[in-house]
Amino acid sequence: MSVKEPRFPLSLSAVVDQKENMVPKNRMATTQTAIKNAAHFSDERKAQAAWRPKSVHASTPSSAGPVSQKMNSPSHASTVPSSSGMVSDRVRQAMVARVAQKGVLDKIVLAALEAVPRHLFIDSGLSSQAYIDASLPIGHHQTISQPYIVARMIEIMRNGRTLNKVLEIGTGCGYQAAVLSLVAQEVFSIERIKGLHELAKNNLRPMRIANIRLHYGDGTLGLTQVAPFDGIILAAAGIAVPQALLEQLAVGGRLIAPVGSKNQVLQLIERISVDEWSSSVLEHCHFVPLRSGIV
Ligand code: SAH
Repeated sequence: MSVKEPRFPLSLSAVVDQKENMVPKNRMATTQTAIKNAAHFSDERKAQAAWRPKSVHASTPSSAGPVSQKMNSPSHASTVPSSSGMVSDRVRQAMVARVAQKGVLDKIVLAALEAVPRHLFIDSGLSSQAYIDASLPIGHHQTISQPYIVARMIEIMRNGRTLNKVLEIGTGCGYQAAVLSLVAQEVFSIERIKGLHELAKNNLRPMRIANIRLHYGDGTLGLTQVAPFDGIILAAAGIAVPQALLEQLAVGGRLIAPVGSKNQVLQLIERISVDEWSSSVLEHCHFVPLRSGIV
């Protein structure tokens, strides 16, 4: 069996899982493999323009390829010299390796994380921290989520499936929506703060991602006109998961949400049948609060 070397940025066909099984289970990537997989752009803006998933129906046989879990982080891993796209690619690979070390195993999700230029979603003054595995301020008292938690939640929601329609509550700066766009056919994302909705639009526009739809509104109500969703992901913590969202989950679908106020946990809800849901509590987490209404 031959495995095609992936090229980054990945086309969406490279990260949707139709070819996931082509990767032999015991195949370990080396640091060299991971570095070879990186895109080598001459500058950041070129990378931004080039990062353009084409079509989920593209038929190019390709594999997302395994991401090494043993890759050593380069010493410059927490800084992003903005003059070189290649350096930020390597720093991003190191971040992805750390996320994998923390236990995220889904190769499709790791490849998506590696393909999205996180530094382009935050204020340029914070660029040097873009690939630290941490949340960062994005204005309006909100944060861009920590890469590990983004990857972990998407991995749990995906559960090895090919996702058709996904709903995100809390667009923020649009980073997670961009990651989701590489693992689902259609992404709908709702933001309640006008300024952040606009920020996400501005961040995502140059990337020309065809399969993201941004909505300004109260995400606790979901999007009845588009439901049902195969997956729903909340980027803000409520004291409980809103009923409307449970009802907009497709049978067989998965919803993942932070729940709680001071002590928050990730809650996974699966819709078993038309009138039956199952719920389980996963790890501790820390998110900004889920609020109702729009501002
Ligand atoms: N998804 C973002 C994380 C943003 S932080 C990322 O990629 O990093 C969480 C966001 O949820 C904030 O922007 C906040 O305004 C938003 N939010 C909180 N309650 C909401 C609601 N009811 N509807 C929509 N967005 C909401």
